[in-house]
Amino acid sequence: MSANPDLLPPATKFCTKCGVEKLLGEFNRDKSHKDGYRSHCKSCSSERHKAYRHAHRDDLNEQQSIYHQANRDRLNEQRRLYRLSNRDQTKERNRAYYRANREALRAYNKAYMRTRGLTPEGYTTSLWHALNTRTINGSCPQWNNKGNRAYLKAGVELRLTRQQLCDFVTEKWDTIQAIRAEGGIPSIDRIGPSIHYELENCRFISWSENNHLASRKWSRLKCGTSR
Ligand SMILES: [Zn+2]
Repeated sequence: MSANPDLLPPATKFCTKCGVEKLLGEFNRDKSHKDGYRSHCKSCSSERHKAYRHAHRDDLNEQQSIYHQANRDRLNEQRRLYRLSNRDQTKERNRAYYRANREALRAYNKAYMRTRGLTPEGYTTSLWHALNTRTINGSCPQWNNKGNRAYLKAGVELRLTRQQLCDFVTEKWDTIQAIRAEGGIPSIDRIGPSIHYELENCRFISWSENNHLASRKWSRLKCGTSR
């Protein structure tokens, strides 16, 4: 279909900043202008905004954090609703990203796994994360797998600070290394009848042993609550 070019408004205009003639689509709309478009093109506007943001970044960050504090509940709720309604898209996007970067991500993880856990601090970091995931973060839907729900249901709490755990790991470092030397993966175990992660109720044993004990522990726990 061909239209009479004389009847159409000009499809381009000159940017008053960079002086380049560009398509109207390259200009932001602005009703206060005669032709309905800004006089600066999009890339010039964005350069200007970038420069402004950079020059005022401290003030802007401060403003933003004040705003966030004041509107915390509303913003969190908004974010929660967004996550809920976009769950599938997010999952698909993450999956696509993983597929596209599989090799690089695997290499990164391998390098990370090799170095992590070789020092008490490194080992504590991942252990602390795992314990949080099992206990506190169990309320977070992304982490809510079967195991975490079992911990939550049983009301298992993490009654250790990160520093206490780090000291404990340092104290038991020989045990941890010994488990590794035998080809096992060290894991933290709750010893006694108290179901919480407390300093005097923790020890290190191998994963396989812990898994074996855990199935018995959970079934005992289930019997206990049903009575
Ligand atoms: Zn321009």
